[in-house]
Amino acid sequence: MKRLYGIIGDPIEHTLSPDMHQFWYHQDHVAHHYHVFHVTKDQLETAVQGIKALGISGCNVTIPHKVAIIPFLDDLDDEARMLGAVNTVVNKNGKLIGYNTDGLGFLRSLEHHQKYHLPDHPQVLVIGAGGAGQAIALTMAKYGARCVDITNRTIEKAVKLSRSCQVFCESNGISLTEAENGLEKYDVIVNATSIGLSEHDSLIPIPIENSKSSAIFVDIIYNFETKWLRLAKQQGKRTLDGLPMLIFQGAISYKHWLGHLPKLNDMDAFLRNKLEERHA
Ligand code: NDP
Repeated sequence: MKRLYGIIGDPIEHTLSPDMHQFWYHQDHVAHHYHVFHVTKDQLETAVQGIKALGISGCNVTIPHKVAIIPFLDDLDDEARMLGAVNTVVNKNGKLIGYNTDGLGFLRSLEHHQKYHLPDHPQVLVIGAGGAGQAIALTMAKYGARCVDITNRTIEKAVKLSRSCQVFCESNGISLTEAENGLEKYDVIVNATSIGLSEHDSLIPIPIENSKSSAIFVDIIYNFETKWLRLAKQQGKRTLDGLPMLIFQGAISYKHWLGHLPKLNDMDAFLRNKLEERHA
């Protein structure tokens, strides 16, 4: 039977999710459709009621609704409850269940790139304590990091997030200066801020110089290679952009909806082509 899925957010026009999911439907020979729903904050509650009323099978949730949607759902899985945010909704026989695949998507993308040979229990620095920073910090802490430090423009948010991470491992909320001075400690350094989101952005999240030679620099921005990642590469560092995270979080959503992970082989090249077309 044909099913309808989609994504709700505002702004939403630049999302790659429909390309990704339609590609997987085609690959799996199913006729489902993935639609973009532009939903403003004041429309959110009605839109969620619409998922039930229209029999939509599930949706992804993006900025600015990941936290605000929670009161309108019937239940949350453990990951979404831990993160306090939802990026995937499954309509199970009229009950809407919220999931969060961002953190695991990040972790799987890192594991997938085996060339990085991560230590079993890496020391991680997360720059940014917004939705994505929270998902990454808590997931890394829960799934085996030795230490997760967080730095953020608004330091209070970093300290608060580190307290939640302390349930799982050592974690500190630190200033940008402390992070910069102690950069040599970290195996994985993640930019989870919006710095660099504009191609003309001259800011970088943190200088690269003090890091150890084996450190991996991850920038979860996926639209293009950020200035920070370019600089890290130029200095001989290992780098990972945000596209693999996007693909893995999407693949885990797909599994919540269709019961199996899609084949991932061709997706990276497919989406990089799409991005190139957009930038042409
Ligand atoms: P949020 O709005 O929740 O958080 C934004 C974060 O960026 C906060 O930590 C904020 O700090 C910081 N920030 C914003 N502007 C500045 C600035 N000028 N200087 C310093 N810090 C700044 O957004 P998300 O967490 O949802 O998204 C963050 C980034 O991650 C975006 O670029 C987004 O595109 C990307 N992303 C990628 C995903 C992927 O799958 N690859 C998935 C989700 C997000 P403060 O708290 O002080 O405001």
